[in-house]
Amino acid sequence: MEDCVFCRIASKKIPAKMVKETDRLVVVKDINPQAPTHLLILPKAHYPTLLDCKDRDLLGEMLEAASDVARDLGVDKNGFRLVVNTNEEGGQTVFHLHMHFIAGRPLMGRMG
Ligand code: AMP
Ligand code: ZN
Repeated sequence: MEDCVFCRIASKKIPAKMVKETDRLVVVKDINPQAPTHLLILPKAHYPTLLDCKDRDLLGEMLEAASDVARDLGVDKNGFRLVVNTNEEGGQTVFHLHMHFIAGRPLMGRMG
């Protein structure tokens, strides 16, 4: 989708700090990090929200990418948090499915 910022990042039409790429997804640094490590796991295909994606393989690949990145960055032992904000009360602001990968500081009850 031409007017979707994450489609544009995934197709490299706008720059982002890329951490990992597979056939079906990219992992990039969040532009406004909430922790020392704050990444976004983005499918290349456009799904507005989690609710729109029925592709179990893709959803599994997103989780697998999170584990891979955790090991690659050495935050697997200390731990990390995955978040999929969904729709308005879920705090979603970009309507292209994405998973936040947050690590590098103690994360207590809430995300912020
Ligand atoms: P959400 O509130 O779950 O929809 O999260 C959207 C996230 O995308 C926010 O954490 C933003 O900081 C991040 N974001 C927005 N635009 C960009 C961009 N061009 N590059 C990297 N991250 C972005
Ligand atoms: Zn998109």
